[in-house]
Amino acid sequence: MSVPSSTKYLIIGAGIHGLSTGYHLAKQLKARGVGSGADITIIDKSGIAAGASGIACGVVRNNYYQPAMSELMAANVEVWESDPEAYHYHEVGYIALGPEGQVGDLTEVAGRHEQIGYPSTLITGEDNVREHMLKLFPDWRAPGLKVALHEHKGGFAFNVESLHGIANKAKAEGVTIIEGIKVNGFVTDATGAVTKVETSGGPIECEQVIIGVGPWIPRMWEMLGLPDRLDVRTPTGDIHKDQNMWTFWYLQEGEIAVDPLMHATADGKMPPVLHVDSDAPLYTDDGKLVTDELWGNYFKRDRHGIQGGAAPIALDTDFEIDPYPSSSVDPAFPDMWCASLSHCMERFEGCRANYKTARSGGVGSFTVDNFPVFDYMLPNVYVIADSNHGYKMIGVGKEVANVVLGDHSSLLHPFRYERFASGDLHPVSNSPYPWS
Ligand SMILES: Cc1cc2nc3c(=O)[nH]c(=O)nc-3n(C[C@H](O)[C@H](O)[C@H](O)COP(=O)(O)OP(=O)(O)OC[C@H]3O[C@@H](n4cnc5c(N)ncnc54)[C@H](O)[C@@H]3O)c2cc1C
Repeated sequence: MSVPSSTKYLIIGAGIHGLSTGYHLAKQLKARGVGSGADITIIDKSGIAAGASGIACGVVRNNYYQPAMSELMAANVEVWESDPEAYHYHEVGYIALGPEGQVGDLTEVAGRHEQIGYPSTLITGEDNVREHMLKLFPDWRAPGLKVALHEHKGGFAFNVESLHGIANKAKAEGVTIIEGIKVNGFVTDATGAVTKVETSGGPIECEQVIIGVGPWIPRMWEMLGLPDRLDVRTPTGDIHKDQNMWTFWYLQEGEIAVDPLMHATADGKMPPVLHVDSDAPLYTDDGKLVTDELWGNYFKRDRHGIQGGAAPIALDTDFEIDPYPSSSVDPAFPDMWCASLSHCMERFEGCRANYKTARSGGVGSFTVDNFPVFDYMLPNVYVIADSNHGYKMIGVGKEVANVVLGDHSSLLHPFRYERFASGDLHPVSNSPYPWS
């Protein structure tokens, strides 16, 4: 399909955010009687689900210590729940388990869930945690866990299928999606507003631009002429000078090829997504010590087996060409992750033999404080930079649609760029992950 010479709303990126924004904007334009999906074009240099959203483990959870993240996540879950079939969403719940050091954080998260009416159960004390897990999984055996927070909503969705589900909804609203078109630059006027977007298919004139390019955001940021270094004011008023706007983490994820039904709850149901952080020594099945420091894993039933991951690795530099090459995990990951599954449940003993080298894992681009930036970065350019939090954030596009049409979003306001100058930053948890 050739690119149009002009469009009112141009969305760059056909990942979760671009597609969700396109769909919700089309609905809002129609509902307000000010336009329709025909006013919207989404372009992607590759195609629908070609980026992070198509490779994400697909976990949907609300295990967030930060009030603003927790509230936004509850709104995202509502969107997932609004059409589970089209979004290939499975509301199996999510359990976060941790050692002594995480009792305080998870207790606070549980308190926040209570405040916002998000259903979850907090379990503390090693015996109680064990009892809770044994009821679900009779072969549960992870020792030393002192806290569990069982979210009764959330779960996971199948990544690529869900993206096509949203794309189909957007198309049904009249939105045009053009694949294989790359943005190379922006033409701005004297006010700094973009008048034209330069693409591999020719220039496109537009009134509003919405950018959702996942890990490629540093490149787009540069094209917009935005600073790659900045001073960040902390909540106590200290200034951290000349920080990198973007940092990069290498997400470690993999799969074991087993009958997916082997991972079921005691009553035969699809199990909740599990996330374990532990300070118990971790050994392979043949007794080799993997680590005696804090480690973490997460896993869920997938189409062809079990899929999940472990703590990411910080990278010194940006990725060069492809953030998701065919095998992109650290060589030590398969042993560690398989050992961690077996550490948790007897059913996974010996699962290292079933580890499958697949296109999973890859690079995430994180902001300077590891939380999203959702904001107008030029007068008519809205940037959705989710700092790798965001497959689960299907509802951000719904909020962005309202903002683009002139409304205020109290859910997105805490993620404005100005927080780095004002010091209105988000609180930080004790989790080893940059996204908790
Ligand atoms: C291995 C891994 C596992 C993850 N697991 C989870 C998870 O379980 N749960 C969760 O909530 N989050 C998870 N995430 C994070 C999540 O995947 C991302 O935060 C989210 O998908 C980003 O969505 P997006 O729409 O911004 O970008 P993407 O899905 O990356 O889409 C961006 C699109 O922009 C296009 N694009 C880029 N540059 C250009 C250009 N110049 N011109 C035109 N198009 C362009 C790309 O082709 C791409 O299709 C994971 C991330 C990774 C890497």
